[in-house]
Amino acid sequence: MIDLKTFEVWFVTGSQHLYGEETLKLVAEHSQEIAKGLDASGKIPVRVVYKPTVKTTQEIYDTLLAANTTENVIGVITWMHTFSPAKMWIRGLAVLNKPLLHLHTQYNRDIPWNSIDMDFMNLNQSAHGDREFGFMVSRMRKNRKVVVGHWQAADVEEQIGNWSRAAAGWYDWQGGKFARFGDNMRFVAVTDGDKVEAELKFGFSVNTYGIGDLVALIDAVSDSDIKALLEEYIEKYTIAPDLLPGGERHSSVYEAARIEIALRKFLVDGGFKGFSDTFEDLHGMVQLPGLAVQRLLAEGYGFAGEGDWKTAALVRAFKVMGSGLEGGNGFMEDYTYHFDPNNELVLGSHMLEIDESLASTKPSLEVHPLGIGGKADPARLVFNVAGGAALNASIIDVGNRFRMIVNEVEAVEPQNELPNLPVARVLWKPLPDMKTGCAGWIYAGGAHHTAYSQNLSAETIQDFTEMAGIEFIKIGKGSTIDSIKNELRWNDIAFK
Ligand code: MN
Repeated sequence: MIDLKTFEVWFVTGSQHLYGEETLKLVAEHSQEIAKGLDASGKIPVRVVYKPTVKTTQEIYDTLLAANTTENVIGVITWMHTFSPAKMWIRGLAVLNKPLLHLHTQYNRDIPWNSIDMDFMNLNQSAHGDREFGFMVSRMRKNRKVVVGHWQAADVEEQIGNWSRAAAGWYDWQGGKFARFGDNMRFVAVTDGDKVEAELKFGFSVNTYGIGDLVALIDAVSDSDIKALLEEYIEKYTIAPDLLPGGERHSSVYEAARIEIALRKFLVDGGFKGFSDTFEDLHGMVQLPGLAVQRLLAEGYGFAGEGDWKTAALVRAFKVMGSGLEGGNGFMEDYTYHFDPNNELVLGSHMLEIDESLASTKPSLEVHPLGIGGKADPARLVFNVAGGAALNASIIDVGNRFRMIVNEVEAVEPQNELPNLPVARVLWKPLPDMKTGCAGWIYAGGAHHTAYSQNLSAETIQDFTEMAGIEFIKIGKGSTIDSIKNELRWNDIAFK
């Protein structure tokens, strides 16, 4: 998985020449200390790199331009220790094309009541210096994240950390390549969309490949490679005896391993970050890729079924954003409901492809018939998913824009064995409640496919949508149908 420590955010402090060398020296010392403190924070997964104080229009422009063009720089944090007249920022902000976080902090936490004098006031004036800067960013209508509080406070570090996770996902999308085997599932609407607009807006490309390209690789996989991979399966998963080498149904698992090796080779050779396939286009394949998809998802690739390239890309972004955190991020589908008035639940799953990053139990490798696609019985991993706070997210194309919809949910531990449902599955309660959660989602046009996250907050997803400049609808605690409907109406005007 991606090591987020390979990414940098630059810490840029604004000032001016008005105050003299002595003050600027202190500004630089304090800024270095803050940058170092943030860099060392366990809550911030990326590097925080100090940049020399910017004091002129040219210095600001040069620094922000360099942030644009420097590899692995995923965003910029700005802070005005002193006053930095914001007309100086126009030129730099106009060209900055990486995510911006405005940290509204100050070096000292407390006012030194007994010693405070006018020198202190002149040095520690972010309370108004940051307002001058904030005005210009608002005046220029630039999206950014404003984080308020002392830089050593845990919640401030956490907000910066979560924003940097969103920025890492955003950076990963830029120039990212996603492969589609076949088109979208026939006649399906919500998984389709404008791929040209997506590339303009999101920075990733989606292109199609014939399933025959994959079949050629499948046919070329060697017996020894398959055997080596089978040993890994046996070590990692619970497997019934008749699926083991020599067993009566072993050929299904053998074939699944062959598909996995070929699919990984296809993705690695092509430099892809994710893919989608469709059961309507499997010519030349023996079984629908289930196990292979699950394992590639667990490695960090994005995936969604039935040609759903938007969800595949979103799952990839979530995997990058959640890297290193407890819990996982995966592909999900709202499948069926439990309408018991005392315990309303959604059962989420997919035909085969929920990945083990979400697993709370040791996965069991099983082979069962699949009543769809008309192929041989596919191998898949079966497991339960842990309870706890989680969310579902969906990107849809509403014609003139993309909309991200997030529904916060409370996942619950499975209360029943499901002996006849041999797929990975999860149970959750939508927030604020079943009726509002489901109706709100449907009013907003959310898809049946989602990216499901156990470790990202709605705020982090919102940060991500601000980077993309797309609409964001959150359905969670406190949401009402009236508020959701109004927000949707107003957004139609806001995005006109
Ligand atoms: Mn589906």
